[in-house]
Amino acid sequence: MRERQPPVLDLARVDVVIFDTDGVVTDTARVHAAAWKCTFDAFLRARAAREGGDTRPFEVHDDYLRYVDGRSRLDGARGFLASRGITLPEGDPDDDPALETVHAIGKRKDAYFLDQVRGHGVAPFRFTVALIRELRRRGVRTAAVSASRNCGEVLTASGVRDMFDVMVDGVEAARLGLPGKPHPALFQEATRRLGVPPLRAAVVEDALAGVEAGRRGGFGLVVGVDRGAQAEALYEHGADVVVSDLEEVRIRGRSGSGPSGPPAAGAGQTEVAYRERSTRHESVVTRVRLLRSV
Ligand SMILES: [Mg+2]
Repeated sequence: MRERQPPVLDLARVDVVIFDTDGVVTDTARVHAAAWKCTFDAFLRARAAREGGDTRPFEVHDDYLRYVDGRSRLDGARGFLASRGITLPEGDPDDDPALETVHAIGKRKDAYFLDQVRGHGVAPFRFTVALIRELRRRGVRTAAVSASRNCGEVLTASGVRDMFDVMVDGVEAARLGLPGKPHPALFQEATRRLGVPPLRAAVVEDALAGVEAGRRGGFGLVVGVDRGAQAEALYEHGADVVVSDLEEVRIRGRSGSGPSGPPAAGAGQTEVAYRERSTRHESVVTRVRLLRSV
């Protein structure tokens, strides 16, 4: 197990901070899981009433993490259904949600998700909000990035939309033809809009594909947020530093910290290495490629 270094955001080296949305800014995983459970349980009940067979409900703590978490909506639907021995026709994006196709199942899940978001809101992670407030107080610009088409609505429902200068979401990615993570295109689009080179930007991510995108794009600092038990994997995929929550992040530079913000880096703390050489980057990318090829 690698020893963790205190994470320091040095504002002499970083001009902007890019935040992944789901899992970093907003606590959306539980809303996604609940939406999948509504979708799959209704589907399984209807199918069993018609044809018999498996009626075990979708398990949030098992099925969600194993088959759905971090995957696209369609991949998640295919994966879970395959685990129950069910194969549905693919259908297409215009399918009526009542149909029994992969696309229709995905649309049902999306409808449940948005119902939840609109009806109950989504909680932002309070230490993320505190960090963003302090960064902005010190003049640092911020971006929110997500592969989700619902990103804007989720940020608005969380009450944090105004805390970002730039948002690059799934709608923009589709419009611009940007590939998803682990390709760094979404993050690169954010720095392009903010007018800074990637080396002057920090990326904050909770997904393995996300930290890999940060590393591959040559961003100045990649902060991994470990919401589960995957700190070592986040390091392996390209995080420079991993925290269990953003209250651990210290800010240095552009005036001192306020009473409510994260404290400034203290004397004696070890500063994390900012990216100045390409050799470490290349070695990590090579290692990831090797892992993925087996
Ligand atoms: Mg995420």
